Amino acid sequence: MMNVDAGRMQAVIQEAFDKVGSSRRWQTAIAKAKQQLETNPYIHFDGVALLILSDSNEIYRANGSCQCKAFANGQPCWHRAAARLVQLYIEKSH
Ligand SMILES: [Zn+2]
Repeated sequence: MMNVDAGRMQAVIQEAFDKVGSSRRWQTAIAKAKQQLETNPYIHFDGVALLILSDSNEIYRANGSCQCKAFANGQPCWHRAAARLVQLYIEKSH
């Protein structure tokens, strides 16, 4: 689990929801990313990308791209959403 300030992360997540507008797939990806950031102990930001051990026991390294099936199919995935949330969170922290 990432050590994050819950209030600051919530603000980042709210901004992200505002940005994606009516895109249901991104809304779903952000919601899953939020839940995983809160509960998945195997998420680590290496300074460039977010390393994630997923429920399916795959390790993904996400920033603008990802190695999962959804990304291969051109769909939003929660790995990319989580990577973006963490990047925005860190920017806000400086
Ligand atoms: Zn992915």
